[in-house]
Amino acid sequence: MTVLVNAGPWLSVPPPGYGGIENVLAALVPELRARGVRVLLATVGSSTLPVDERITVFPDGRFADLQRPYNRVMGVPAAHLDRVVRELHRRDDIVLVHDHQEAFGLTVLGALGRSCPPVLHTLHWDLRKHPELYGSVDGGGSLFVNGVSFAQLTTAPPALRALSVGHVHLATPLAVNADRRPAVRKGEHLVVMGRVTRFKGQAVAAQLAHRTGAELVLAGPVGPHHRPEELAGPGADEDNPDVRYWREEVEPLVDGRRVRWVGTVAGEERDELVATARASLVPIDWEEPGGTAVVESLALGTPVVGFRRGCLPELVEDGRTGLLVDPGDADALAVAVGEAARLNPDDCRREAARRFTPSRMADRYLRLYDKVLQRSGRPRLRDSLRRGAGGA
Ligand code: UDP
Repeated sequence: MTVLVNAGPWLSVPPPGYGGIENVLAALVPELRARGVRVLLATVGSSTLPVDERITVFPDGRFADLQRPYNRVMGVPAAHLDRVVRELHRRDDIVLVHDHQEAFGLTVLGALGRSCPPVLHTLHWDLRKHPELYGSVDGGGSLFVNGVSFAQLTTAPPALRALSVGHVHLATPLAVNADRRPAVRKGEHLVVMGRVTRFKGQAVAAQLAHRTGAELVLAGPVGPHHRPEELAGPGADEDNPDVRYWREEVEPLVDGRRVRWVGTVAGEERDELVATARASLVPIDWEEPGGTAVVESLALGTPVVGFRRGCLPELVEDGRTGLLVDPGDADALAVAVGEAARLNPDDCRREAARRFTPSRMADRYLRLYDKVLQRSGRPRLRDSLRRGAGGA
């Protein structure tokens, strides 16, 4: 019962710091293996996640290439997927492909049709991004998709929606026993955890901090840059849209006291920064599809304050685990930040332990694997695989 999980060529699994998809796969794969699934991971050489087998093309993640011009980088996803396809043709023991490679995975694996195992392609992205592709996609009877929130799938054009077998919320290992962890002493700061980009709203958060006098910490990469020194000198990819957003709208508000940018943080440093924050700010300017940083914040006992759009209303219970205001309403956001102190961190942790554990996510994916196998006319996973399923 081997499943090929395609993590793509961009970052290692788990990622060295930033990496939503890769963090979620690092949570999912051990749970699949614990349920008897053999996992063949298609990834990069620097991945350290224990798996049964892996295939790689690139020694390290090609994240820095992601926002470079298409004509320079298209060979990267193509080479990775070419390796995946050759593996699928070479052997006959793979029962299903669980794909996480944007656009390429959907088209190439879909085109293989019945010459290869059925495919579940997880949509981690804003579905308005590729209208021509999503508007006419055809899974050939053996490729199906899932969303990472219900809201995300409502934005899918009919052709894509016809391939959907449902949605699965993202999960984090931080949610395991989150309700039993002792309370963490809160500091004074607010935090925005995520890549610095207009969609994530760091400039809105920084303006709010200056207006209200709140202390704000921004964490996450700016384009390919992870450390403040990398952005200080010349050659900092000034054409990169995220670097431009940083230069023009965020950097002028970063004074190193009220508003600080700490670069990319990882591991315990990241967890402590979030756990000690009064609130995580999520002033998004897009339909956030899944929000790994949102479920992590709840697991760490930090309420989420942000705009009511995308997946946020599904993940955050307004008034209990966070406060959501109308999109773009900066005044209401400022009021909500002031009120966040009355929310109980224990409620956030309890909710995360109930809803966002890797175990729960894996159970849902196994059910979707079965749906995909069934809809493509293949035998379903053996019952034995599902022993242990149904737990929290
Ligand atoms: N992240 C991190 N360090 C940082 C910034 C982000 O480890 O400095 C992680 C964050 O904890 C989350 C992921 O990167 O796991 C971002 O995923 P999310 O789904 O929130 O955002 P997106 O995939 O849209 O960038």
